[in-house]
Amino acid sequence: LGVPELPEVETIVRDIRPALTGRCFTSARLSHDDVLRGVTRRGLLTGLRGARVVNVTRRAKHAVIRLDRGTRLVVQPGMTGSLVVHRKPLTRDESAYAVLRLPLDRGGELVYRDVRRLGTLLLLDERGWRKYDDALGPEPLAAEFTPHVLAEAFRGTRQYVKKALMDQRVVVGVGNIYANEALFAARIDPSRPANVLTVGEVETLHAEVRRILQAAIASNGTTFRDYRTGTGEPGNFQLELMVYDREGEPCRNCGTPLAGTHAIDARITVFCWRCQT
Ligand SMILES: [Zn+2]
Repeated sequence: LGVPELPEVETIVRDIRPALTGRCFTSARLSHDDVLRGVTRRGLLTGLRGARVVNVTRRAKHAVIRLDRGTRLVVQPGMTGSLVVHRKPLTRDESAYAVLRLPLDRGGELVYRDVRRLGTLLLLDERGWRKYDDALGPEPLAAEFTPHVLAEAFRGTRQYVKKALMDQRVVVGVGNIYANEALFAARIDPSRPANVLTVGEVETLHAEVRRILQAAIASNGTTFRDYRTGTGEPGNFQLELMVYDREGEPCRNCGTPLAGTHAIDARITVFCWRCQT
């Protein structure tokens, strides 16, 4: 199940930001090293202990915690990851899969919990951050992401439009759930090559990607199983999904049973063959 995508991480970031900004990590504890990328256990822990949080933002599907030392803790919550600020002492259940624990001055604790440890943690200096940021495509909700930018990216690829939309160099933050939803809303067959879409189709798809991501943020994201907001609550957008997780169920437009295929990429693509041409 392809969460968290942009709306889920945006929800987490908005939830934890007020509790973290200006606070200090009084200590740092890491249960396993296998979530680390480009940083050692020792490097991470000494980099975090005593550091103060300057701000908390999102880039692509990652939470970015900027520290007063000029470094950034980047958290990519995997499928089973959550990032929650706890105000009370952790229950046994909450601490069972806590990978990174960061108690805060003035009380509370930031906890990265990840049952299967599919997520990653990075600690980047300014140079590392610039390299990381440059490798990613535009933010779909930013003003710079215009229909023209999307059309230009699509023009250079013969990939299926669904795969192109999930390519993080084309646009960031869109994974399997929201790619399926946006293509249904735009009435575009996910198996068409991206470079054959008309200008009008690209404009519609661009608008639907933004509309759906914003609607999902407004509903605190999509929860099937593990995803939780930054306050530990489930999201609600699963109630509004039109195609994802609805293979075989009737299309909400025309009543035709929705088709599912794994032929486009390794993941499930759900679509209506009557509405999406
Ligand atoms: Zn239909």
